[in-house]
Amino acid sequence: MSKRDYYEILGVSRDATKEEIKRAYRKLSKKYHPDINKEPGADEKFKEIAEAYEVLSDDQKRAQYDQFGHAGTGQGFGGFDQGGFGGFGDGFGFDDIFETFFGGGRSRRRDPNAPKQGADLQYTMNLTFEEAVFGKETDIEIPREEECHTCHGTGAKPGTKPETCTYCHGTGQLSTEQSTPFGRIVNRRVCYHCNGTGKIIKEKCPTCHGSGRVKKRKKIHIKIPAGIDDGQQLRVAGQGEPGVNGGPPGDLYIVFYVKPHEFFHREEDDIYCEVPITFVQAALGDEIEVPTLYGKVKLKIPAGTQTNTKFRLRGKGVKNVRGNGVGDQHITVKIVTPTKLTEKQKQLLREFAEISGQTLGEQEESFFGKMKRAFKGE
Ligand SMILES: [Zn+2]
Ligand SMILES: [Zn+2]
Repeated sequence: MSKRDYYEILGVSRDATKEEIKRAYRKLSKKYHPDINKEPGADEKFKEIAEAYEVLSDDQKRAQYDQFGHAGTGQGFGGFDQGGFGGFGDGFGFDDIFETFFGGGRSRRRDPNAPKQGADLQYTMNLTFEEAVFGKETDIEIPREEECHTCHGTGAKPGTKPETCTYCHGTGQLSTEQSTPFGRIVNRRVCYHCNGTGKIIKEKCPTCHGSGRVKKRKKIHIKIPAGIDDGQQLRVAGQGEPGVNGGPPGDLYIVFYVKPHEFFHREEDDIYCEVPITFVQAALGDEIEVPTLYGKVKLKIPAGTQTNTKFRLRGKGVKNVRGNGVGDQHITVKIVTPTKLTEKQKQLLREFAEISGQTLGEQEESFFGKMKRAFKGE
């Protein structure tokens, strides 16, 4: 039985005014009210009239009905069992209607049988400072799901096949209709008979117990590029979890944590470090050996070097991970004041001060003078 046209039920024309619809409804509802009319079928007729009025008296619902017919109002859903509504999957399901009504606010129903890409996986790897700088090759073992070899991913016992779920007809979703003060709402939820897969497995695969997947530890050979830095990640294409229904696999992302170095500090591709020198080296000048990532190199300290003086060793930094050259190494010299002096050393230093015209116990006048001026804002 297909549903009758609402205008026909109320006996009004398609361009009837609200007033005309109201009048028609009053007249008919009185005539068929079950309390008054005891004829068989009057009850059904009354409901039909009420339904037609509910839709046509509401501007929005009426517009939807005019555009989509019974399907548009949600009222036609009852006709599904009677074959009045086209049913799901016939090209014009509720999703399409809802999208038209609500501007696509509802997501499109997902076909559980469509190919789906596998999940991406993440793996964290700790590296030493040098491993990050120079890169390395290594094997890692990642736990991931793989297609079950016994059932080839179907989850069914060999020799059997998963059957289409009869509750959701393979769509993986169940729809229920609900009346609310705002009209009828169609709720869709994951089919609990098949957990949204659209398939029922009667005899489960003994290896994977019906999931079609097994957890495995997979060994993967990884090439870590030179110059990788703390927090960066490497994408290994296709090494994530397998796809579903023939979809492609996901990717594997390796995130690196780099341990700090004892005395090297890295910023991008540049390396920073501090090197201690004595005040004698600073005063007289010297050639010292400094550590770099590539072994020791000689560095000339000119006479009269102050503490915190910076030197740059070009090309002694990190090779850029994307091949954009090599960074530098920056060296800051720190003049170390001796803490333990022998009597002889003390004697020599006093002599040094004397020759320099300094009297110990007094600071240089000019220094204090500058300080005072600075505080007074002169
Ligand atoms: Zn299996
Ligand atoms: Zn189902």
